[in-house]
Amino acid sequence: MNKPRVPMSSPDLTAAERAAVMQVMESPVLSMGEHTAGFEAEVAAYVGSRHAIAVNSGTAGLHLCVCAAGIGAGDVVLTTPFSFVASTNVLLYENAVPVFVDIDPRTGNIDPALLQQAAHDLRQGGDAAARWLPRHGAAAGQQHAKAVLAVDVFGQPAEYDAIQPIADEYALTLIEDSCEALGASYKGTPAGRFGQSGVFAFYPNKQMTTGEGGIIVTDDDEAAALMRALRNQGRADGDTWLEHTHLGYNYRITEMSAALGRVQLQRLDEMVASRAQVAGWYAERLQDFELVELPQVLQATTRMSWFVYVVRLAPQIDRQRVIATLAQAGIPVRPYFAPIHLQKYMRQRFGYQPGDFPITEDLGARSLALPFSSVMTADQVSLVCEELQKAILA
Ligand SMILES: *Cc1c(COP(=O)(O)O)cnc(C)c1O
Repeated sequence: MNKPRVPMSSPDLTAAERAAVMQVMESPVLSMGEHTAGFEAEVAAYVGSRHAIAVNSGTAGLHLCVCAAGIGAGDVVLTTPFSFVASTNVLLYENAVPVFVDIDPRTGNIDPALLQQAAHDLRQGGDAAARWLPRHGAAAGQQHAKAVLAVDVFGQPAEYDAIQPIADEYALTLIEDSCEALGASYKGTPAGRFGQSGVFAFYPNKQMTTGEGGIIVTDDDEAAALMRALRNQGRADGDTWLEHTHLGYNYRITEMSAALGRVQLQRLDEMVASRAQVAGWYAERLQDFELVELPQVLQATTRMSWFVYVVRLAPQIDRQRVIATLAQAGIPVRPYFAPIHLQKYMRQRFGYQPGDFPITEDLGARSLALPFSSVMTADQVSLVCEELQKAILA
């Protein structure tokens, strides 16, 4: 790769963020202090949840949701293969069995019609269930699904008006991986609010950052208390420092991160608006170029929170060649996502093969994430679009 002329992503930090972190550095409290509590209260207020539990990554947050849902060894959880690997890995941490459901090609989100079919067939058991289960790695016998883990891909909420009734009908606990969708809304309701619990993530390429970090939102008092305890080495409310009611984890966030997050949260709407403007520039400059398909935002998405800008190349285009040509020109781009079921450890453990989830594989093969952030300029977008068109036509 020649020296990048545009960064792939960029955090959006001001003097206020730097001052907030420095202030923590001048205090003796670097963990479990006022900023963690304040950040939690402010995120809860932002999305309208009863509880928010800050943790040190989005993955840690998802893992705690899985624990709170009582998901354990051999339990079947319906989820999507078109995601970042963390949404499936948290199931494997508990030795649960992820059963994949293919996606809606418009959005990349889990397809509710297929989800309904999968939940139905798993309840039937026998050959009907076997169609959905992995080739190996699942326990023998009838396999009811226990939960559904939906992902709000690229900042667009999944179709919860269809997913929630399925979860209700089949008694599935719904977990919402909103790690890419803080600030989005679906039919007026904020992302993160559709399941028993939802999770946002704060890695530096997300809509807002804490360096590393994540936060769980939930209205469930019991789940919240358990997740708070598990985050803090299993110490339940009332336990002393060396009393541990549960087998827990150290998933605590630092005060530096929480203080940074509080300032970022105040600027979130402004940053989401800037990202929407950047997405608009991309759409304007690429709309007449028929060799790339642009991302679709559904009507039900009352607010898109652009996390990445992912286009799809026409099927006849050699993506590897386009990526290499762009790298030569100093424009970083990435395939996004790589299907989870085709990762090496997933194939080994469950016997997945190419062809198992054709829509996921098609999008996985044609997608290209372009440089994107809230601080990107119109000129940078123009440069990327010119180079992209040149690379495709070369
Ligand atoms: C970012 C992300 C996560 C969590 O990532 P961390 O790096 O652990 O904070 C989980 N799921 C999805 C879909 C993500 O994009």
